[in-house]
Amino acid sequence: MTIYRADLHIHSVLSPCADLEMSPVNIVKRAAELDLDIIAITDHNSTLHGPLTRRLAEERDIYSLFGAEVNTREEIHCLCLVENEQQRQLLQTFIEENIQRIPNNPDVFGYQVEVNEDEEIIQEINYLLHAALNKSIDEVSEFIYSIGGIFVPAHVDRSKYSITSQLGFVPPNLKYHALEISRNTQVADFLRLNPIKPETGFIRNSDAHFINQIGSITTELALVDLSFVSIANALMGQNGSYILPHIDS
Ligand SMILES: [Zn+2]
Ligand SMILES: [Zn+2]
Repeated sequence: MTIYRADLHIHSVLSPCADLEMSPVNIVKRAAELDLDIIAITDHNSTLHGPLTRRLAEERDIYSLFGAEVNTREEIHCLCLVENEQQRQLLQTFIEENIQRIPNNPDVFGYQVEVNEDEEIIQEINYLLHAALNKSIDEVSEFIYSIGGIFVPAHVDRSKYSITSQLGFVPPNLKYHALEISRNTQVADFLRLNPIKPETGFIRNSDAHFINQIGSITTELALVDLSFVSIANALMGQNGSYILPHIDS
């Protein structure tokens, strides 16, 4: 059993709201400086920086998950994480087939660029990645489970783009691996207001949009081995892997 420190919610320069410094090269460099063990680039409705980030992360012994922060039809942000390139492509296709195509205006919303390891622009995405999909949170959850991914409603306590801000409650039948809670709310306070499955695990991540935010808050996972399956098990608190309790201040 080993403890790993994870930041599973990081935006790259592909996200219109993220800083242009947030290239995969810079993100991985910063994660290595901070000794993070596990990271995930979760851009708004895009997985495109996953493969480059993983290659760079492997060189520094960091485990990098593929994923995206998907915006559901209800405008609920959800972290969708997958293990391999085949699943990443399925997720990318699902997003591209279901996202509402609104043209991006970079002057208003920011640039959405894919870059290479020399930080040269490969492509600019011309539709707004912050838009919602034509799929409900249940449908997105179902899809992620069907491809073997991890599904985590994001920043559930926030007053915008969260399950509580958009629905007012956590649907009792929604399938998820864990919930992400922001640094501002103690788990006990959230539970007092929101009746949910008692076995629910909570993770905290930086939701970094700027380099100096990476790893500013993390989750410690006790894993039987460093693998996608064990990370999923930890979020569910099963098969010997688990989330270490957060020290709420
Ligand atoms: Zn979000
Ligand atoms: Zn985010």
